[in-house]
Amino acid sequence: MKVIRTLKNLETTLRHFRQNSALSLGFVPTMGALHQGHVSLMKRAARENDRVVVSIFVNPLQFGPAEDFARYPRTLSEDLKFCRRAGVDFVFAPTAGELFRKKPIQLKAAMSRVLCGSFRPGHFDGVVTIVNHFFRLIRPDRAYFGLKDYQQYRVIEDMTRRLYGDKISIVPVPTLREKDGLAMSSRNRYLSRSERRLAPLIHRILLQTRRQLWKRKGSIKNILKQGVLSLQKKGDFRVQYLELVDAETLKPIFSYGALERRSLLLAVAVYLGASRLIDNLMVCERDSAL
Ligand code: AMP
Repeated sequence: MKVIRTLKNLETTLRHFRQNSALSLGFVPTMGALHQGHVSLMKRAARENDRVVVSIFVNPLQFGPAEDFARYPRTLSEDLKFCRRAGVDFVFAPTAGELFRKKPIQLKAAMSRVLCGSFRPGHFDGVVTIVNHFFRLIRPDRAYFGLKDYQQYRVIEDMTRRLYGDKISIVPVPTLREKDGLAMSSRNRYLSRSERRLAPLIHRILLQTRRQLWKRKGSIKNILKQGVLSLQKKGDFRVQYLELVDAETLKPIFSYGALERRSLLLAVAVYLGASRLIDNLMVCERDSAL
């Protein structure tokens, strides 16, 4: 596995790789502090491509001024072990100074005013700008994104289709969870022991709310409100949103009719103590017998 720290080294490595083969290239962008969720993306990329590039870069463009950029965990030497074990060929881990020697094209994300976007202004613009910057440097055939960050996956898929057509495929990868249901996240390591014990309730509330939706017990609005209340009753949760949205457009859904016609997503964002955690579940009518 080759670790690349400079644009020049990236360019020569990839030029060499491309000139000598018609091999496919998979790309997994990450902010490091890697865990098994990231590993599942890398392994999938390794299965589906001849070579895999992982980027490790804590992207300042996607953090708001009051967010956790400075304290975001940075664990490069551990991260490299995860990458090596997952069969990664190239790790690109530049400093910000190095990465921005080439000026990124500032992009505006679609669907950035809803869900997390309404609480994190500018966040998704920063995400699509950096992902496009990496795409221009790496020119992968496929790029892998976790469905835990569902809105991120959708805005990147939209940007990629608009800018690259079918030249780059965006591959969604299911959310990997801890045994107790908590979605794996680099931010889970912020949780105190008591917060960690409470955190699986986020997934449990999603499951419970989805069951209520399937049973159609009351209006969608009321079911969502009940979900928020039961989470807040159980601990120091501050819920930013619990919403049912169209899985493609991310527009809110308030009528059961929509449940028969399209795939919907139940998405949640909460603060548990000082940590902001997100999770989601698909809600499809055909699953209602489960
Ligand atoms: P991050 O380092 O948090 O920016 O995440 C890098 C990639 O890993 C993103 O595409 C995330 O959606 C994905 N990811 C993070 N957590 C998980 C998880 N628990 N399961 C699957 N993918 C994940």
